[in-house]
Amino acid sequence: MLTDCSRAKAHCGKMRTRVLLSWLLLLLLTLGQGHVEAAFFDTSEDSGHLTIRYFNLVVENKEELQRHTDRTIKPGDAILVTTPDGRQILIDSGLTYVGDQLLKFLQQLGVDRLDYAFATHPHWDHIGGFLTLFPNIPIGKMYHVNVPNDTDTLRLFLQGLDDYAIPNRFLEAGDQLMLGDYVSASVLNPPAGTSPDTLESPENISTARINNLSLVMRLDYGETSALFTGDIYRAQERYLSAEYPEEMRANVLHAPHHGEETGSSFELIEAVMPEVTIISRDDLASIAIFNRYRAYDSDVYVTGMNGHILIRLDGESVQVVVEQEIDSPFLH
Ligand SMILES: [Zn+2]
Repeated sequence: MLTDCSRAKAHCGKMRTRVLLSWLLLLLLTLGQGHVEAAFFDTSEDSGHLTIRYFNLVVENKEELQRHTDRTIKPGDAILVTTPDGRQILIDSGLTYVGDQLLKFLQQLGVDRLDYAFATHPHWDHIGGFLTLFPNIPIGKMYHVNVPNDTDTLRLFLQGLDDYAIPNRFLEAGDQLMLGDYVSASVLNPPAGTSPDTLESPENISTARINNLSLVMRLDYGETSALFTGDIYRAQERYLSAEYPEEMRANVLHAPHHGEETGSSFELIEAVMPEVTIISRDDLASIAIFNRYRAYDSDVYVTGMNGHILIRLDGESVQVVVEQEIDSPFLH
């Protein structure tokens, strides 16, 4: 920073003070952020809590990659869930390009084995990162959905399950699982009986159809719960809200499809009534969707704006820790 000290000494002194103050402020902010990032990677309080960690994944050279595809390059979802008795669970794994980043974060958290993994649907921004994890982190069991997709990413994912002999099972509505001794999972979607045999023209299945067949499940610990929704659209949100009004209610909601306007219908929000909503995306796709949740008094966090997001459920209440607060006049 350049300061002009050829002018009056008093002015120069003020400038110096101002420069010093801004450096101090910057230093404090940096120290503060370091502290909060340390909180995200500090696992000492995980025991006795249902801990949910949303990774803020970043696609390096995104513009360059975008030039070679008509699909939108976004990092996708990767969520680490740790049960009160220490089971490690990964829900989705982000885009293929962020696999190394995810692996590094998991190692930083001391995760050298995943007891369970969930692949919500066979799109590359959800299953791509598993291709990096397979040779590096043992997975006790993979839960996925019986939904086809004619892509190399899905072929490599299924090949990986075979190559690394990972036990795996398809989930559908009505399934109930225990994840450790304290956390139960209730599966609400895809509808029972979903498989390539029951789908119309499974070889030409649309992106919207695949998204609507995402795994939707609620995790329960004591009186607290979190609802994961993959990438479902409005039509499926309305169907599920009408079909499962009780089961959809949850303290924490994963906003469907990265908070895009394809979802987050009023019906969904009124069924779930989330205290906390997470938008997992490197930017904010829709200000209207953000503000819609706020209008229902939900606290909304966005990975691309808040950084890594740590959520702790103690069976009675929810606590959220973020790296930085959102400060924008457009967001209520
Ligand atoms: Zn997605």
